[in-house]
Amino acid sequence: MSQAALSDTTTETTTGTTTDAATTGAFPLTFSLTPSTMARTRAEREEILADPGFGKKFTDHMVSIDWTVEEGWHDARVIPYGPLQLDPASSVLHYGQEIFEGLKAYRHADGSIWTFRPEKNADRLQRSARRLALPELSESDFIESIRQMIAVDGDWVPSDHETSLYLRPFMIANESFLGVRAAHKVGYYVIASPAGAYFANGVAPIKIWLSTEYARAGRGGTGAAKCGGNYAASLLPQMQAYDNDCAQVLFLDGETGSHIDELGGMNVFFVYGTDTLVTPRLTGTILEGVTRDSIIQLARDRGLTVEERDVTLDDWRDGIASGAITEVFACGTAAVVTPISQLKGPGGLAIGDADAPAGTITMALRQELTDIQYGLLPDRHGWLTRLDVPADQA
Ligand SMILES: *Cc1c(COP(=O)(O)O)cnc(C)c1O
Repeated sequence: MSQAALSDTTTETTTGTTTDAATTGAFPLTFSLTPSTMARTRAEREEILADPGFGKKFTDHMVSIDWTVEEGWHDARVIPYGPLQLDPASSVLHYGQEIFEGLKAYRHADGSIWTFRPEKNADRLQRSARRLALPELSESDFIESIRQMIAVDGDWVPSDHETSLYLRPFMIANESFLGVRAAHKVGYYVIASPAGAYFANGVAPIKIWLSTEYARAGRGGTGAAKCGGNYAASLLPQMQAYDNDCAQVLFLDGETGSHIDELGGMNVFFVYGTDTLVTPRLTGTILEGVTRDSIIQLARDRGLTVEERDVTLDDWRDGIASGAITEVFACGTAAVVTPISQLKGPGGLAIGDADAPAGTITMALRQELTDIQYGLLPDRHGWLTRLDVPADQA
């Protein structure tokens, strides 16, 4: 019998200890609400929603849940948005034990509020938690934490074209202890930020910069986990991208430096001809995007062949030169699907045409995905979860 099966049995036969129930989510958490006394007025909110930008403005409340080794998850609450009080010895500040998620709430034409495949984010948060030695939050508690945010701050979900409320769940180690081990005290939070259309003036292809000097992940590292440390490691190469007039940085695999891994925060796809989509296979160093998975499904639905395999830099160069590669794009929750016109790199490397327009397959997939998210196309895969009604009525 496997270790996992053994421990499951153990948990079942020893039900009743608070820690087991609280850590495994055997009992759903109940949330208390402390309404903000400083909530923005309707007029103030509408002013913000008219031009929210991205990640700059936050709603009036946040979710906070505590975890300790002794008690498991407890004290779930919705409280006024505001600074966290952290002891200077708090472990996240020293050893970076932190993970996060990113998903969006979308307003449909009838005013209802929905989110997209939140169970995928819940699963990924659990996988990230395991890798970072943080406690797992159950899928149902994760989704309930999102519902709670919408219940209190649903008016912050904008309704203009391609706008949304970006939800940022995150988990930090906050034990006051400088010894190096997994923290015994952890906090989980959800904050929310209204987001304008990512491409305010229409979808514009981007140039990306190849980092030959730095990797974002290595074999056995944290590349497949959504953790702050991966982003910290990507910031210097990202600055080099900006210095070279590129919007994002592209990383090769850390081991051989020959395969395409992904961008700092987005997965990459190549269109071959008019009927094949190719994306780097999941090797453990790539973050498994929900958008990536959804694009693969939508492409297959259209009859495209989708290959998850290694793509080398030479494949990219040769594919562009021969015309076999017709389109390149990146994808992720924030920007959805972003066409890539050109890859630039050290030594004058330039693959593709900086002035290339967005590809038709790229744009068709983008349109179909956003139409599903905004309720303009049938949700044939059951990807949407309604947030603005209680779970038992959704
Ligand atoms: C979050 C993230 C993505 C995109 O994931 P989605 O679930 O599609 O938003 C891709 N790469 C990295 C490194 C990420 O952190």
